[in-house]
Amino acid sequence: MKKRNVYAAVIGGGAAGLMCAIRAAENHPDQAIVILEKADRVGKKILVTGNGRCNLSHIGANTNSYHGDASGDLINILFKKYNPDAVLSYFRTLGLLTHTDSEGRVYPLSNQASSVLDVLRMRNSQLHIETICNTDISRIQKTAEGYEIVTPELRLFAKKLVIAAGGKADYAGRNSDSRELMRSLGLSMTKLSPSLSPVKVKSEHLKSLKGIRASAEASLIRDKRIIKTERGEVQFNDGALSGICIFDLSRYANRGGCEIHLNLLPDFSYEQVEREIINRFKRNASCGEVFTGMFHKNIGSALLKSCGIKPSSSCKDISLKEIKSLCRHITDWRFVCEETRDFKKAQVTAGGVKLSEIDPHTFESNRHRGLYIIGETLDIDGDCGGYNLQFAFASGMCAGDHL
Ligand SMILES: Cc1cc2nc3c(=O)[nH]c(=O)nc-3n(C[C@H](O)[C@H](O)[C@H](O)COP(=O)(O)OP(=O)(O)OC[C@H]3O[C@@H](n4cnc5c(N)ncnc54)[C@H](O)[C@@H]3O)c2cc1C
Repeated sequence: MKKRNVYAAVIGGGAAGLMCAIRAAENHPDQAIVILEKADRVGKKILVTGNGRCNLSHIGANTNSYHGDASGDLINILFKKYNPDAVLSYFRTLGLLTHTDSEGRVYPLSNQASSVLDVLRMRNSQLHIETICNTDISRIQKTAEGYEIVTPELRLFAKKLVIAAGGKADYAGRNSDSRELMRSLGLSMTKLSPSLSPVKVKSEHLKSLKGIRASAEASLIRDKRIIKTERGEVQFNDGALSGICIFDLSRYANRGGCEIHLNLLPDFSYEQVEREIINRFKRNASCGEVFTGMFHKNIGSALLKSCGIKPSSSCKDISLKEIKSLCRHITDWRFVCEETRDFKKAQVTAGGVKLSEIDPHTFESNRHRGLYIIGETLDIDGDCGGYNLQFAFASGMCAGDHL
């Protein structure tokens, strides 16, 4: 077995690891830096982000965009220097042109995620950063001088070690659980759960709505308390609700006893809705026509059915009590969430290495000198909209500057 000494080893060639290796190599041009990556190529996940467009940052990212114990303190310190402007300016120096949409989400100008990966890979190769792929690191040994990493072919001694192994959310369906790695270093972690994922709900009416989208205000309710409310597009799927606003509620829906309540007319007061629907019942002949021009036909039918009204019924046979029940469904359509631990459909992992394990100014471990933990491996997750990559890149830049 070959033995090698390097200045720094980065475990994980994703967004955080690639960025960290680049900054470290720029700061230490004469030192050997190596990335150890489990997959056959680095940066594979970047290619699927933002539906292949890579929403790499959000210009409005701030403490409110992130979750996890003490995430606010960490973001406050990190964004003093490594805020969205700094990350995007740095990408500009790597050759990446970007554009920002009306919501503040940033994409490469090419609208191709590959542009983001290409500039990172190009800079890696300019700086002669070595990349060893197909290498799944499961154990690390602390030595007097640094860290020993053993792969089937290699014993690698690194003065500095960066863990950028991501979370458990794995779009490709592989087991991406880096907890063993953390345990081997004695790092304490919080419980992992999927975030930014569709939410499974119980409803007999969803089948007919598969693929249909609607603008709504969605609230996550637990023990009769509103936990969070989001506005945006909701997509109905067979057995699940999805869409950006549902994604943002999903991190809270993993416990039992949760419901999602949809208000399909959030810009109308309840009285306005009632007036509108009563008028529509007066104007139309059959119940199936009532929602014409208002909602997708199938949404109208599902609402009627969930109130026990047949779309073929005549409007004049419907009582005021039934119309009021329909109005309540329109403004407060309730779906009981099913508990799910499905990391395959999640974009992000909530939970991870406790933030108290690291120095927020450098990302260095408080327990082990020369060890850095960055990106999604940490107990911090962002909302949907470029916040997670922003954190991955910013934490990579910060750690890379302090290695
Ligand atoms: C489908 C999808 C779409 C997304 N879209 C967006 C978006 O548009 N905007 C946004 O901000 N966020 C998005 N995200 C989230 C974002 O991709 C992640 O938060 C971000 O990639 C995290 O970066 P990371 O470097 O910490 O981890 P990762 O990108 O997961 O990288 C970790 C790397 O480490 C490797 N690895 C893991 N364990 C080991 C090991 N033991 N040994 C060696 N290598 C290992 C992995 O193979 C991987 O390459 C999306 C996620 C998904 C799944």
